[in-house]
Amino acid sequence: IEQSAYQNDKLAMLGKIAAAIAHEIRNPLTSIRGFIQLLRPHLAQLGKDEYARIVIGEIDRANDIIYEFLNSSKPSTPDKKQVRVVDLLKEVTLLFESEAILKGCDILLEDLPSSTTVCVDVKQMKQALLNIIKNSLDAVGESPQSGRGVIRISAAEQGAKVAISVEDNGTGMDYHTQSKLFDPFFTTKVEGTGLGLAVCYRIIKNHGGHIQVDSTIGEGTIFKITLPLC
Ligand code: ADP
Repeated sequence: IEQSAYQNDKLAMLGKIAAAIAHEIRNPLTSIRGFIQLLRPHLAQLGKDEYARIVIGEIDRANDIIYEFLNSSKPSTPDKKQVRVVDLLKEVTLLFESEAILKGCDILLEDLPSSTTVCVDVKQMKQALLNIIKNSLDAVGESPQSGRGVIRISAAEQGAKVAISVEDNGTGMDYHTQSKLFDPFFTTKVEGTGLGLAVCYRIIKNHGGHIQVDSTIGEGTIFKITLPLC
C-alpha cells in the first residue's frame, strides 16, 4: 500500500502541535522536579526517600518521551553521514536481543551486502528501523498459533538504491489496518501510541526513501524500505 502526500501534511501539523505541547509540559515538569528535590531531605527523614526517587525517575521518563517525540516529529533536515547498511542493521537488532530471547523469537539477519552504504542521519534511521522491528516483535508475540516467532531482515542493492526488508510471521493485518498504519495516532494496541510508523514514514521520506507494507492475516507482514545509495 502506497502512502500519499496527505500523510505528510498531517505529520507536519503533528510536528508543530507536538512541539507546542511538549514545550508547555516541560516547564511544569521542571518545576515539579525542583520542588521534589527540595523536599527530598524531609522525605528522607520520614524514611520515604524511595517516593522521591520514584517521582524523579518518572519525571525523567516523561521528559525522555517528550524529547524523543519532539526529535522524531520535528520537521528537521537529516544530519547525514555515510554508513554501511550492514552496520546500521546489526546495531539496531542488537538492541532487541534480550527482548527477542524473552519472547522466544529469532531475529535473523540474512543476505546483508557488506559494502553497501547509505548517507543517513544515523540516529533517525535507527529510530525508523527500531519502530518497525518493535512492531514485528509485538506481532509475533501475539501470534502463538504460528509457532516460533521469526523476524527476517535482509538488504539488497537495486540499481541506485538499497532495498531493506523486515519480514515477520506474526499476526498480519487486515486491509483497513494496512491502509491506516502510517497515520499518526492510528493503533490497534491497548497501550499503543500509533506514532511509531508515522514517525518512521516521515524519517524515510526525509531521506528520499520509500516504505511499503505487504501483509496477510495469520501469516505475517513484510515491510520494504528503499533508500538511495551514497
Ligand atoms: P503502535 O505500535 O503504537 O500501535 P505504530 O504506528 O507503530 O503504532 O503501528 C500502528 C499499527 O500498525 C499497530 O497498532 C498495528 O496494528 C499495526 N502494525 C504495525 N506493524 C505491524 C506488524 N509487523 N504486524 C502486525 N501489525 C502491525
